[in-house]
Amino acid sequence: MAILKTREQIELMRESALVVSRALGEVAKLIKVGVTPLELDKVAEAYIRSQGAIPGFLGYGGFPNTLCISVNEQVVHGIPTDKPLKEGDIISVDCGAILNGYYGDHAFTFAIGKVSDEVRQLLKVTEESLYLGIEQIRAGNRIGDVGYAVQQHAEKYGYGVVRELVGHGLGKELHEDPELPNYGRRGQGKKMQDGLVLAIEPMINLGTEKVAQLDDGWTIVTQDDLPSAHFEHDVAIIGGKPEILSTFKYVYEALGIEDPFAERQSFYSIINS
Ligand code: MG
Ligand code: MG
Repeated sequence: MAILKTREQIELMRESALVVSRALGEVAKLIKVGVTPLELDKVAEAYIRSQGAIPGFLGYGGFPNTLCISVNEQVVHGIPTDKPLKEGDIISVDCGAILNGYYGDHAFTFAIGKVSDEVRQLLKVTEESLYLGIEQIRAGNRIGDVGYAVQQHAEKYGYGVVRELVGHGLGKELHEDPELPNYGRRGQGKKMQDGLVLAIEPMINLGTEKVAQLDDGWTIVTQDDLPSAHFEHDVAIIGGKPEILSTFKYVYEALGIEDPFAERQSFYSIINS
């Protein structure tokens, strides 16, 4: 059963989400060739603690770090290493924090230096698919409507949509009901309603949708070793409509790039592209 949140609880969750958003902004300031995932992890942990929050992933199921950092063919749940990042890499940085007892859980995939055109397009389409999914997070719509929107967009480009890992309800637990797949059929699955808070997180592969887990017990990789992208927002349904609680504003500011989806932050407006 999904645990619906009151407006007051959603405001607390917005604070949790924004701690994560700002932590990602701190990470973004350091993104460059030669930086190591472990350096990024330390910065995120220090920032989260400076806000009186607790790293949400550290120790979760035994996970050893604050950030999940997944490089290139790694999809999600990568463990930060001391291996310097190189030109052309992409890294999914997934961050969780607990504030006032509520989780924020939010991710961005960064390009390190200049990446190939095909990888740049993968990042763009994955972020687009995130917002197309969010547009469907509405009272009266069904879970399948969200996955359908994400899947249709990604598959138009021939990309693989990961099946084994999904988005989820969010609240006092990191993973609450319902599961939110990035694939689905329109009109299928549970009906959504006001007070639902979801972490929506498309994981889109350049090649096959098939994934495997490394022997470390965490890292998920693509079976064909082609790169994978991952973007995640925390979204509440308020007044029947999606409201994005997290933001990539701090990330884009730090990167010195205009957020291509800036107008879809805050109260969300319908995409018709
Ligand atoms: Mg996450
Ligand atoms: Mg998540």
